[in-house]
Amino acid sequence: MKQDSERIKYAIEVAKKAHEGQFRKTGEPYIVHPLAVKKILEEWGMDEDTIIAGILHDTVEDTPLTLNDIKKEFGESVAFLVDGVTKLSTARNGMRDIDTYLPETKDNFLRLMIALGSDIRVLIIKLADRLHNLRTLSALPPDKQKKIAKESLEVFAPLADRLNMGRLRVEMADLAFKYVDPRRYEELKNLIEKYNKSAAKSLQKIEDEVSAALKKEKINFTISGRVKSVYSLHKKLAKHNQNMGEIYDLTALRVIVDDITDCYLTLGVIHSLYTPMGGRIKDYIAMPKQNGYQSLHTTVITKDTRVVEFQIRTKEMHEYAERGLAASFYYNEQKLTENYKKGKIEHLPTNLLWITELQTTAARLREGKKVDLKKLKLNLFADKIFVYTPKGDIIDLPAGAMPLDFAYRLHSEIGDHVVGVKINGKMSNLNKKLEQGDIVEILTSKNQTPKTSWLDRIITPHARQKLLRALKLKSDKKEPPIPPIKKK
Ligand code: MN
Repeated sequence: MKQDSERIKYAIEVAKKAHEGQFRKTGEPYIVHPLAVKKILEEWGMDEDTIIAGILHDTVEDTPLTLNDIKKEFGESVAFLVDGVTKLSTARNGMRDIDTYLPETKDNFLRLMIALGSDIRVLIIKLADRLHNLRTLSALPPDKQKKIAKESLEVFAPLADRLNMGRLRVEMADLAFKYVDPRRYEELKNLIEKYNKSAAKSLQKIEDEVSAALKKEKINFTISGRVKSVYSLHKKLAKHNQNMGEIYDLTALRVIVDDITDCYLTLGVIHSLYTPMGGRIKDYIAMPKQNGYQSLHTTVITKDTRVVEFQIRTKEMHEYAERGLAASFYYNEQKLTENYKKGKIEHLPTNLLWITELQTTAARLREGKKVDLKKLKLNLFADKIFVYTPKGDIIDLPAGAMPLDFAYRLHSEIGDHVVGVKINGKMSNLNKKLEQGDIVEILTSKNQTPKTSWLDRIITPHARQKLLRALKLKSDKKEPPIPPIKKK
C-alpha cells in the first residue's frame, strides 16, 4: 500500500475539518464517505490530483469551504475537478420525480460533460462516489434506494461501460439491480449459483484438458472461470424472450496469455479440442468494441455436450477490460494528465471515439463556435430506451419501440389483446414511439384479437414473431383453408 503523500494527508485534514459534525445516514461521521471514495480511486490507480479531488468532492456543496479555498490550497487542477463533480451533482437537484428526472439527468450529463471540457477524471470521481453510495444504500429509506438504484442502472453503469470499466459496471449494476427488482435478483442469483455448482466438475475437466493442450504448445497462460453477473443475465434473458436455452455464456472460461499471437494460437488449440458453434466466434482483437474492449470469444460444445464460452486475451487487454480508462491513467499517468490539461487528445489509450468527439466539441464551444447538440453522435444512451410499467418495473427496449413492442415484451397474452395504451397517464395511440422514461400502461380486452395491421406498429423481432404466430393461429382457427392454386 502506497503511503499517503503530504498533499493527500493535508487534504484529509481539510476535509475532516470541513465535514466536522456531519453524519451519514448509516450513523457514521461523514468523513467516512470521502475516505472510501479516496480508497476506490486509489484502487483504480488514479493520479494524485484526482485522489485529492475525491477526498474533497463533497466539501463545496455541503460545507463552508469554497472553490477558491481549494484552488489556493491544492491548485487549479484539483479545484477544476471538484467544481466538475459539484456541478454534476447539482444538476441532479430539484428533480425529485424519477420519471422526468432520469431523461433530464441524461441530457444534463451530456451538456455538462461538454461544458466541463470533458476531463474524464470528473466522471471517474463521480463513479467512485456513486459506487460507495451504492455499497451503503441499505441505510437509506426505500424510495430513495429505488431512485438511486434506477439512476445507477440507467446512467452510471452505462457510463462505466462506455469507459470499459468492466469490473465497476458489474458491481454497480448488480448492487443496483438488487434494489430495483429484489425478487428477480434473488431468483437469477440462485439460478446462476445452482448452474455453476452443477457445472463445476465438468468445467474443471475442461480446464484441465485445455491446460494440458496449451502446455504442450508451450503457451504461457492462466485460466480461470468467469461468473456471469446477475444483471447481465437478466438483460440477456429479456432480449432472448426468457429462453435459457439461448444463453451460451452462463459459464465462461477466461484464458490470459502473453501476446496477440498466443491469443490466436490458443483459439486454434481450443477449436482442435472441441467443436466451435457456428457464428459465435468473435474477434474483438481485430475489431475492438466501441469502448476499446479487446478479446477473442468463441463458444464451443464439449465432449459431454456442454456449451462453454471461452474468452482469450492478453494481460494488457484484460487489465483494460476490467479497469478501462482508469487503467490507462495507471500506466500513463503523467503524460495523460498533462495532455488533458493542454486539451490534447492523441494519447488516449485506445480509440474511444466518443471521448474524442466530446473533446472536439468542447474545444469548439470554447472558441465560441455554435454546436448542434442533436447532431452529436455521442450516443451514450441512445441505442436503448428505458420505460416503466405502472408498477415501476423497468423495461428496456431499442430506441423507436412502440406500445405493441412493450406489450409483447410483457407477455404474449397481453400483446394479443391490446385495445389501447396510456402513456404517462394519457390515452395515446399504437403508432406512438415510446420515449425514454415513459410510463406505459397497456389496456386489454378479452374480446380483442391480433390484427395484421399491427405489423406496421412493431419494431422488435421478438414482438413480430409473437404476433405472426398469433395471426397464424387465428387464421387456422377461423378462416376456411386457402384453396390450392390450380396448376396448368
Ligand atoms: Mn459524495
